[in-house]
Amino acid sequence: MKKAIVIGAGVAGVASAYMLCKAGFTVTLLDEKPAPAMGSSHQNGAQLSYAYCDALASPSLLAQLPGILLKKDPAYRCTLQADPDFLAWGLRFLINSTPARFSNNTLTLSRIALRSHALLLELLEKHPIEFDYEINGKMLLYPTLESCQKHTKILEQKRQQGFQLSVLTREEATVIEPALVHYPDPIASVIYSPGDAAGRPDVFCQKLVESLQHEYGLKTQFNQKVQGIDHSKNRVTGVCFRDAAPLECDTLVITTGQSCDLLPSKDRSLGDMWPVQGYSFTADAHPQAMQTSITDVKRKLVFAPLGNELRVAGLADIGRHRFHFTPNRFDTLMQTAQAAFPLFFGEDQGPPKRVWSGARYVTPSSQPIIRKGSLAGLYLNLGHGTLGWTLSLGAAEQVASLINS
Ligand SMILES: Cc1cc2nc3c(=O)[nH]c(=O)nc-3n(C[C@H](O)[C@H](O)[C@H](O)COP(=O)(O)OP(=O)(O)OC[C@H]3O[C@@H](n4cnc5c(N)ncnc54)[C@H](O)[C@@H]3O)c2cc1C
Repeated sequence: MKKAIVIGAGVAGVASAYMLCKAGFTVTLLDEKPAPAMGSSHQNGAQLSYAYCDALASPSLLAQLPGILLKKDPAYRCTLQADPDFLAWGLRFLINSTPARFSNNTLTLSRIALRSHALLLELLEKHPIEFDYEINGKMLLYPTLESCQKHTKILEQKRQQGFQLSVLTREEATVIEPALVHYPDPIASVIYSPGDAAGRPDVFCQKLVESLQHEYGLKTQFNQKVQGIDHSKNRVTGVCFRDAAPLECDTLVITTGQSCDLLPSKDRSLGDMWPVQGYSFTADAHPQAMQTSITDVKRKLVFAPLGNELRVAGLADIGRHRFHFTPNRFDTLMQTAQAAFPLFFGEDQGPPKRVWSGARYVTPSSQPIIRKGSLAGLYLNLGHGTLGWTLSLGAAEQVASLINS
């Protein structure tokens, strides 16, 4: 039986391990953290946003760039760096902001997302794990008709791909999601995708790992930082650690989120991805809180119902390679959420139960890096950016099919 190692037990790694187990590999999943999904996957926005996988680099983001650089939009912080990697990423990002590239990148992501959704339903048939998964639909709230109408063409293209999408008035949307009566600002239009979902990525990873251990004999090693890739005659032979015996394999999948030092230099390129830091909090859901996932386009905030809780995520801080939790940025998230739905996040509600910050490793095109590496037996599944939870199974299937080819 072929031996595979997957490095990184976030959503991309756990999904890749699942695909390889199904394909008949003996799989070992490794992570330097003590449990699955302790990196970017931990407390992300939780939206399975299949119908809204739009690339980050877009004409509309380009138009907002002067305001972002002047710190006029609290959702963004961009610190310019004299770092060749950052400058290369920035340039490549700008090149991807044309209407044609935005459309092409978005439709490619949507195809992966569509497949991801089908694969999740298939997975749940066989592994009925619980992670507060609900197909509760998603609404994007647009403050002006003009901001919504910009999406008319891409909406039509997504419908042709098979997505169910409709444009609603505020009144029509409020019939479906009564919580919108508590939104204080004008809503000119709502894009509604009833097939979208939400679920806890960390619980999904933990439960799927347990299920794969039981069903396929998946082996795991946590608290185990991989120090290097062993190879011979241009072929992967295993991985090594600082304080533990090396492990052998003939197939190695790198799902470390970012393009890390582990990779041979041939597999890294200047500006291939950059971290965009965000924040989230999880609170008890107010009795009148939304049952539908909501994206407040004006405030760039996402709301996802998770059982009795509500997850709120947002902010995009670009420019620093090393990041840490900055209390005043978290306060910005909290204040923005309070401004969007004062009833749900007012002082009566008490402090959130959990707060978190993580990075989305974004490629210039927003498309994940899914390809063979420079060594035989080496595969990359990295750079899932703003949508890794949504794309995880579709991306993992692509890696598995590369391996099987
Ligand atoms: C604020 C925020 C909100 C988001 N909201 C959403 C959302 O609503 N929907 C959505 O689809 N996506 C969302 N995302 C994006 C999503 O969270 C990421 O794209 C996804 O989690 C990336 O998963 P990953 O498995 O590639 O990386 P990670 O989850 O970071 O996993 C990589 C793992 O590799 C391990 N690792 C790294 N190096 C080594 C090593 N040398 N040895 C061993 N282990 C190693 C790390 O410990 C880590 O566990 C959001 C992200 C953020 C930050």
